[in-house]
Amino acid sequence: MSVTDDTRLWHPFADMGAVRHAELVIERGEDVWVWDTDGKRYLDATASLWYANVGHGRKEIADAIAAQLAKIEAYSAFGDFANPPAIRLAERLAEHAPASGARVFFGSGGGDAVDTAAKLARRYWVELGQPDRAALLSRHAGYHGTHGFGTAIAGIPANREGFGDIAHGARVAHDDLDDVRAAIERIGPERVAAIFVEPVIGAGGVYPPPEGYIEGVAELCAQTGILFIADSVICGFGRLGTWFGIERWGVEADMITFAKGVTSGYLPLGGVIVSGQISEPFWGEAGGPVFRHGATYAGHATCCAAAHANLDILEREGLITRGQENEQAMFDAIAPFADLDAVSEVRGGVGMMAAVELSDELIAADPKALSTVVMTAREAGVLIRPLAKGVAISPPLTATEEHFGLIAQAIEQGLSAAAPAALR
Ligand code: PLP
Repeated sequence: MSVTDDTRLWHPFADMGAVRHAELVIERGEDVWVWDTDGKRYLDATASLWYANVGHGRKEIADAIAAQLAKIEAYSAFGDFANPPAIRLAERLAEHAPASGARVFFGSGGGDAVDTAAKLARRYWVELGQPDRAALLSRHAGYHGTHGFGTAIAGIPANREGFGDIAHGARVAHDDLDDVRAAIERIGPERVAAIFVEPVIGAGGVYPPPEGYIEGVAELCAQTGILFIADSVICGFGRLGTWFGIERWGVEADMITFAKGVTSGYLPLGGVIVSGQISEPFWGEAGGPVFRHGATYAGHATCCAAAHANLDILEREGLITRGQENEQAMFDAIAPFADLDAVSEVRGGVGMMAAVELSDELIAADPKALSTVVMTAREAGVLIRPLAKGVAISPPLTATEEHFGLIAQAIEQGLSAAAPAALR
């Protein structure tokens, strides 16, 4: 299965002691399917890492990339430089963003978008003469990437520990507004810069927000001035059935971080939508304050060209709304697992993302149960993802009920391989 017996490729989040001799090498993809180097076909039930929204192998995007490369691959967007795809992409995203007067700051992915948003939040408050507003709130189980600030605000403890104290703030319950209120009171609103909120928590285990939570956080932000930052890196571009996910709760954000589905992963791109209010201090008269931040590939012309071709497909094929149209059918396919003793909970139903969590009894009886579920499903030709105590699914938005059925079947096989008879 591996192309070498002992790889030199250091995989992210990987037990390299095991993986070094056993990589799953994917070399080809078409729509919801991918193939490994042995020619085995898998249903990509996770859209790779939550990003292949239009599915794999779209020639139209490859052609758009080639055409842009032939014109000019990239050119700096620092200072006064720009390129047509970046200017048009900023326009296109701002037009659809639930943030009035939006401007768009580009980067290379979700993690640097989060760092950009965190730095801009603090910089904004300095500009407004409130430098003490520096604390960053985030939610337990939240995932915001692995750059500096994303690590500092990680709601998954293991992702935060061992890296020192990067930035101060607090973690709040992902499902309890009173806890958010208490944290703000404890720290003092005049010391809190912003709160980061994934519309639906993804990598931390797939947790849709309880009713009223997102609206309540937005309301608390409006009352206290704390900036509301929607981290829509997973939830955008159709995953929840809208452009940025957050529209489903009818709230506006001060900033929205995005990545993944903006190009469906055909090239790396991410960024931050910044509301008119937050950008205003930096967009006034010439000679005013400068946001001294940005990466070499900000506004990369070819990445932006890939985004346009991807967005064309999402719009033309009606995929932006698909995440909501299909959420119930996808959830219904796996919801019955909740009745099994081997399963503690099935979460989802908001957008095309869901998780099946294994019961503590099963994990206690067999600490390898999760791996057994994932590997059995893989053997059956379906790629699902281990997350915390469960498995997650988030297929390309082109997936249909037939695919949901195949995913459910594979999970069922995985569960029966993992669960001792008593737990079935
Ligand atoms: N924010 C959220 C909500 C994410 O899910 C992720 C990645 O999964 C990130 C940020 C980090 O994005 P990247 O891996 O592109 O740095």
